[in-house]
Amino acid sequence: MERNIKKIISQMTLEEKASLCSGLDMWHTKPIERLGIPSIMMTDGPHGVRKQVGPNFSDSAPATCFPTASCLASSWDRALIEKVGKAIGEECQAEGVSIILGPAVNIKRSPLGGRNFEYFSEDPYLSSELAKSYISGVQSQGVGTSIKHFAANNQEHRRLTIDEIIDERTLREIYLASFENAVKYAQPWTVMSAYNKINGKYCSENEFILTKVLKEEWGHEGFVVSDWGAVDDRVSALMAGLELEMPSSYGINDKKIVEAIKSGKLPEEVLDRAVERLLRIIFKAIDNKKEGATYDKLAHHNLARDIAKECIVLLKNEDNILPLKKKGSIAIIGAFAKKPRFEGGGSSHVNPTMVDIPYEEIEKIVGNDTKLLYAQGYDPDTEEIDKNLIVEAKETAKKADIAVIFAGLPDNYESEGYDRAHMRMPESHNRLISEVADVQKNTVVVLFNGSPVEMPWIENVKGLIEAYLPGQGGGNAIAEILFGLTNPCGKLAETFPQKLNHNPSYLNFPGEDDRVEYREGIFIGYRYYDKKGIEPLFPFGYGLSYTTFEYTGISVDKKEINDNETVTVTVKVKNIGNMAGKEIVQLYIRDIDSSAIRPEKELKGFEKVELQPGEEKSVIFTLDKRSFAYYNVDIKDWYVETGDFEILVGSSSRDIQLKETIKVNSTTKIKKRFTRNTPIGDLLEDPIGAFIFKQIMDQIKQNVPFLEGAETSPMMMAIFRYMPLRGLIPFSRGAFTEEMLNELLAKLQ
Ligand code: BGC
Repeated sequence: MERNIKKIISQMTLEEKASLCSGLDMWHTKPIERLGIPSIMMTDGPHGVRKQVGPNFSDSAPATCFPTASCLASSWDRALIEKVGKAIGEECQAEGVSIILGPAVNIKRSPLGGRNFEYFSEDPYLSSELAKSYISGVQSQGVGTSIKHFAANNQEHRRLTIDEIIDERTLREIYLASFENAVKYAQPWTVMSAYNKINGKYCSENEFILTKVLKEEWGHEGFVVSDWGAVDDRVSALMAGLELEMPSSYGINDKKIVEAIKSGKLPEEVLDRAVERLLRIIFKAIDNKKEGATYDKLAHHNLARDIAKECIVLLKNEDNILPLKKKGSIAIIGAFAKKPRFEGGGSSHVNPTMVDIPYEEIEKIVGNDTKLLYAQGYDPDTEEIDKNLIVEAKETAKKADIAVIFAGLPDNYESEGYDRAHMRMPESHNRLISEVADVQKNTVVVLFNGSPVEMPWIENVKGLIEAYLPGQGGGNAIAEILFGLTNPCGKLAETFPQKLNHNPSYLNFPGEDDRVEYREGIFIGYRYYDKKGIEPLFPFGYGLSYTTFEYTGISVDKKEINDNETVTVTVKVKNIGNMAGKEIVQLYIRDIDSSAIRPEKELKGFEKVELQPGEEKSVIFTLDKRSFAYYNVDIKDWYVETGDFEILVGSSSRDIQLKETIKVNSTTKIKKRFTRNTPIGDLLEDPIGAFIFKQIMDQIKQNVPFLEGAETSPMMMAIFRYMPLRGLIPFSRGAFTEEMLNELLAKLQ
């Protein structure tokens, strides 16, 4: 419906305008009935609708619990995540919810981050691409999203006060980039500002990120909502670009806004602009509301199963122990087989409509063909080792042909609000796996966990399925993968290091008092492990299939481009096994020779392809400037240095199958600035500079005879290379003067 929003604003009192800038209660915006301004509802996300229905934060209406983001991301499948978004959008419509608080796209800086299970990846390109799909899916249903937490909310420890010291290039290339494509190309209705500070400023009051980057550079059209309780100084936050404070401040902050305008501290246009952004989204939500909407719970449950099947990652399959055959006897071990852990704790906790139990799903598949044995193995509610349970598990395993152990991280290990203290699984789980594997050589482990764990037993087990937190349909998906009814096709969206202290943030996580320095810079995740040559437990992009794929060729449509052009890369992939399967083809770019410090390679493209046995398909990627660029802090822009770049295509970050080299020419001329402290070596790199230097040398040689032939002496030239221009004055014994230096500098400007 067409409305004249500017006219509505002109009819609002100052108090009414200020009141719209904070919530009515925990979940709603304020209505202004006399002007027909309705109230809209927001609820958590991200992997399902958590609409609070009772007095307690945890009382929520039943909704479909989809896999959490770390699991979803392992699908590397844009279309699949769009489907999840669409289903969540439908459920929002049915619940009368206008905005879902997700997706959550913070980068996994440390494996210990308490909310890693809610986040997609350690790689900003992958994370932002998947977020884009989620947003498009939800918003296609006339429901808004709130991409969160903007920005760099990478730890829970002191999350409301921590000051994160992040250098400009790292912020741009890693932490902001995770939001960038999603905001630019999917236009989330809202963006949620994070609790933490960045470089001394609370994100909610950070004009650089909320206005300069988000609104001006990326063109965000919606509004910014604070994370719940993130606002410190309401007036500064409004000036910085934060339109809505949540939850309600019970009038306290509305008054401060009114006072600031009355005292002239805050221009009224700032408030008007905020109200305009708010009203556009509020009315958009109302216009898109589908009264009486419902959804089919069973169909969504089946969807949750299908989604989980595309996400779960097969990490080890020695002797092709998987898929299991439906014969003989199988020992199912571990309490998680009957009481699966399928989601994380905190604000994202969904009350599922139904839950698949792995043990029951396995029973359904094997019927009477296989004898199933069961042993609990550990008490899911404590970390204590129960020796009797382990003995019983070993006896059970011995009696069977194969043991399948369900283990991982208990609920209290991963949650919003606190980080993990270490990267280990409970000793009760580790001991169980080791001891069972000692007596049963055919052992397979299925893990439920939201983020990487150390695996001291990995060499002793034959199979490993990383189920992550697979949502309410996970039990069925795991059973199908175990028995080969589904061919696993997920790959890790994060590195699993061998141990915590291999992680680049290890020395600076979670910081000291209220300060954490991101000293590893851009080298996080595989960017670090690759550069340092550290062998991870499982690399970024890794995952197995029951079939085999062959990479058979690579071609580019141009061997040389300017950075304002695109290049198309085509690769061929073939299924050479005998089961249909899906391969995630990954494209990385390596700057062969860069004057900036850069990672070995960076992900710049990925596609998931489905292939029947014997089938071959072409996969096409288009690369543009950003695929080759780094953020240059001198020009404050993305910059491609002219030179050769390698295009690397493979099945994981550590399994590159195809390579091609192209040249990219920069269309940006960076003007070098020369000062009296510029090293002579830098002057020599400039053609005019080199010419001038020759003239200076000819002159100096008259006073300093031993310089004759200096240009051909490696030692003399090495001395000159790092000598600042001013050094020539004393060195020339008066032949080169201060005045001549100033003249030279003037010529070079
Ligand atoms: C979380 C957000 C969440 C909000 C509302 C905050 O504590 O950080 O992710 O959306 O609460 O529950």
